[in-house]
Amino acid sequence: MSNSPKRIVVVGASLAGARAVHSVRAAGHDGPLTLIGAEPHLPYDRPPLSKEFLTGEGDPSSLALDQDGAYDDLDVKVMLSTHAVGLDVAARTVAVAPAAGGNAETVPFDGLVIATGAAARSLPGTEGIRGVHTLRTLDDAQAIRDGLRAGARVAVVGGGFIGSEVAASAKARGCEVTVIEAASAPLVRGLGAQMGTRVGALHGHNGVELRLGVGVEGVLGAERSEAVAMADGSRVPADLVVIGIGVVPNTAWLEGSGLQIDNGVVCDDTLCCGPEGIYAVGDVARAPNGWLGPLAEAGPVRVEHWTAAVEHGMAVGRNLVAPAEAQPYSSVPFVWSDQYDARIQIAGHPDADDDVEVLVGSAEGGSNSDRSFLAGYRRNGHLSAVMALDAIRPFVRFRRLLANHPTWDEALELAATLN
Ligand SMILES: Cc1cc2nc3c(=O)[nH]c(=O)nc-3n(C[C@H](O)[C@H](O)[C@H](O)COP(=O)(O)OP(=O)(O)OC[C@H]3O[C@@H](n4cnc5c(N)ncnc54)[C@H](O)[C@@H]3O)c2cc1C
Repeated sequence: MSNSPKRIVVVGASLAGARAVHSVRAAGHDGPLTLIGAEPHLPYDRPPLSKEFLTGEGDPSSLALDQDGAYDDLDVKVMLSTHAVGLDVAARTVAVAPAAGGNAETVPFDGLVIATGAAARSLPGTEGIRGVHTLRTLDDAQAIRDGLRAGARVAVVGGGFIGSEVAASAKARGCEVTVIEAASAPLVRGLGAQMGTRVGALHGHNGVELRLGVGVEGVLGAERSEAVAMADGSRVPADLVVIGIGVVPNTAWLEGSGLQIDNGVVCDDTLCCGPEGIYAVGDVARAPNGWLGPLAEAGPVRVEHWTAAVEHGMAVGRNLVAPAEAQPYSSVPFVWSDQYDARIQIAGHPDADDDVEVLVGSAEGGSNSDRSFLAGYRRNGHLSAVMALDAIRPFVRFRRLLANHPTWDEALELAATLN
């Protein structure tokens, strides 16, 4: 392979970056391989941070993505607590600086994988108020867990997946929990209003208060959080506030590099960012997904899904090491969420304008025992997505069906065999 890179650098030591170093080696690269990460930890798994890690006493080591010694075995030079602070595409160097401060140095590369993910958005004006948290990292989760004492008043700002999961975990620890959501229902962005309302009802069924359709002005409290101030003048008393209002991709270090940055690093369908040998993966990448093509949305998309980060990381090794054999990324999007004792699974690409119909089971059941169902999203006569609540087996069948862009009638045919 004439243009196979000799020195490969992966920036971002988390899920996508960890999968990338494995795939680079699996693709036959036997030259220098460096993994650079801003956090002090080796790559770990984030989904448990809002779920079992918050509810349990689990040790951080249980979150590790790879076994002890895996990076030595792969002959990867790991640089932790190290921030990438600049990229010079022409010189083919990454500038890095110690997270604790200090002089920058440059790391040369022939091939580069950008895997810097995303950071949680915060509420302006809440900096420095103790008891106010966002949740993205292990350190965030440990700080929140320390505050989830029985009887503590917890306000969760934002009723998306992470906010909803934190609310469920806080309730499980005996806290008094309020979820504050500016939209008409939780999870509207991910599920649309109809299913957002249905799934959001889990909060009420489990004793968590919902404040919907009202914005947040700020957090009151000179040193410690005392209450969340609402736009309608009311207050939600809170010893602990968790802000779950979305993320921003970590691209500041790429400013001035010449790469196209627009809500993430814009890539082609092989995850290449333009210049030869430079790729982006995971939550930071805005890349086309071939599967979306027939849904008339073939443009680049940025998703925040565990499975996409794994798939990108696994694909990038081959594309980078053997660019002549690069393959376009194409996959049915998939995301899951665990809230209270419910498992929510979504496959495909739900849109707020889709018609939604329950295909399997019934969405009427309110109690925790009779609520299992699967809903289909219909767009232009086709099934565009499915959402399942505690309906794992039907979900598996529909996820498989979605791969071939079924018509709505085909979806009804499958549903008939499952009801
Ligand atoms: C609490 C929580 C729960 C989740 N639950 C689910 C779930 O149930 N289902 C699901 O599908 N997805 C879930 N996700 C999303 C999933 O974890 C992400 O999609 C996944 O972590 C993305 O991996 P990534 O490697 O692309 O980015 P990240 O995991 O964000 O990692 C990026 C890494 O790059 C580092 N970095 C950033 N900037 C720099 C820099 N300049 N220099 C060096 N390093 C840098 C960061 O410190 C970080 O370690 C959850 C996420 C969170 C936070």
